[in-house]
Amino acid sequence: MTVVGGGVAGMSAACALGEAGFRVRLVERRGYLGGRASSYLHPGVNEVIDNCQHVLFGCCTNLIGFYKRIGALDRIHWTSSMTMIEPGGRRSELGSSWLPAPLHGLPKLLAASAFTFDDKLALARAFRALMRVVPQDSTETLAAWLERNGQTRGAIDRFWRLVIASALNAEIECIALPYAAKVIRELFLNSAEAGRMGVNSVPLTELYAGAERLLVERECKVEYNAALEKVSYDEESSQWTLGLRGAGEIVSDFLILALPFEALAKLLPIMPPVEGSDALAAQIAQHEHWPISSVHLWFDREITDLEHAVLLDREIHWLFNRSRLQPWRKTNGSYIELEVSASKRFAALGRKEAIELAVAELAEFFPAAAQARLEKAALVKEMWATFGVPPGIDQFRPDARSSPWPNCVLAGDWTATGWPSTMESAARSGHLAAEAVCEAVGGTRDFLTPDLRPAGLMRWISP
Ligand SMILES: Cc1cc2nc3c(=O)[nH]c(=O)nc-3n(C[C@H](O)[C@H](O)[C@H](O)COP(=O)(O)OP(=O)(O)OC[C@H]3O[C@@H](n4cnc5c(N)ncnc54)[C@H](O)[C@@H]3O)c2cc1C
Repeated sequence: MTVVGGGVAGMSAACALGEAGFRVRLVERRGYLGGRASSYLHPGVNEVIDNCQHVLFGCCTNLIGFYKRIGALDRIHWTSSMTMIEPGGRRSELGSSWLPAPLHGLPKLLAASAFTFDDKLALARAFRALMRVVPQDSTETLAAWLERNGQTRGAIDRFWRLVIASALNAEIECIALPYAAKVIRELFLNSAEAGRMGVNSVPLTELYAGAERLLVERECKVEYNAALEKVSYDEESSQWTLGLRGAGEIVSDFLILALPFEALAKLLPIMPPVEGSDALAAQIAQHEHWPISSVHLWFDREITDLEHAVLLDREIHWLFNRSRLQPWRKTNGSYIELEVSASKRFAALGRKEAIELAVAELAEFFPAAAQARLEKAALVKEMWATFGVPPGIDQFRPDARSSPWPNCVLAGDWTATGWPSTMESAARSGHLAAEAVCEAVGGTRDFLTPDLRPAGLMRWISP
């Protein structure tokens, strides 16, 4: 059994199957695990950095299940509050209270100075409307729905464009309403537990050390620097022969292709020609990438006591205070990471321009940044960070079992999980692929972790 792709999808499939007794070989093109959610030594600053801060939420049950399986859950730091800051420094706090769901977030929203009375009324109306599940085949965009539901400029710019569009990493004009509704229900309505946010307290790749440990303990293997570049299938023996650049040839009875859509597209020409591969190519062609940029800054002093914040009305969107979140980092001053989601404009800037803009904007929120000395900085642009979720996209997300090749299943965040481009979608796809493999060899196993049940009054509103 071979899993190709050592991202969250591939690791979660491999670990689930390894634990179930399969002899798995996990094959990864790079020298480390994690794929789009990984860390590495950045040569420019000589620091191990994550390619970008990755957050998860309490509702990410499969990712949490994967972290539990590999013993990484105690390296996730959880928080239930979100500080929004306006230029000038005024702060508002969103988060939960003692009230039952879906009302738990209401007291803090009503007290938030970032929103006018009309903004709050508009948001409360929108939340009420989205309490019920939106049909998955709705073709409305989030932007059209906001317009139709009387959302104010403040609510759109400071909440929908910032919080929701950055969770889905796309412009509101390009987001299908059911995906936005799902984010609202999971993060703000279903329960306080579903909406709490988790961040890794060690570099991402270190978080996955337990995945390799689990696999090795179960007589499985991880092959690094092993890019799949030749494939053949022998019908008589029902076996795959895989040519791996850097790791020779391996023979395998089953294959999980846990790859992003563009990497699968590259493999199509070398896969055996079978009926259905053109249809898969046509599905892949419908997907589009969205970028995420992150600016990593080392200052000679602390510029804020906050661990993280949402920054309003500027190009930079999220701040993560890495020195506070990862206190083991020995910095004399502080290490701050800034995120810019879904901005093709920011991603087009050069290194110097992007860092200067980010530092100048940061000083508008935290005056101490203007006094501090910037010791070093790095810009990481991921142009292919996530796939978009425009209306109609679901028909182009293949499910694990729809691979056109024999003894082969598909995984990856972009496959049919019902989730947007997230680590949770990747973990779900891995678990679904593992279930499909068990079914194909004549057994049934449940690897998919069920969703959290709505709490409080949501139990009756959205059962
Ligand atoms: C900058 C950025 C910020 C993000 N922020 C968040 C966030 O805050 N929260 C969140 O949940 N998600 C976030 N995401 C999305 C998340 O990272 C992805 O959804 C998830 O990691 C995808 O996992 P995957 O396993 O499906 O794919 P990938 O991570 O892309 O893994 C695929 C793997 O396959 C390997 N591969 C490719 N071709 C071959 C080949 N021919 N042979 C062998 N191996 C091959 C690749 O090297 C890679 O390791 C972010 C993504 C980025 C880039």
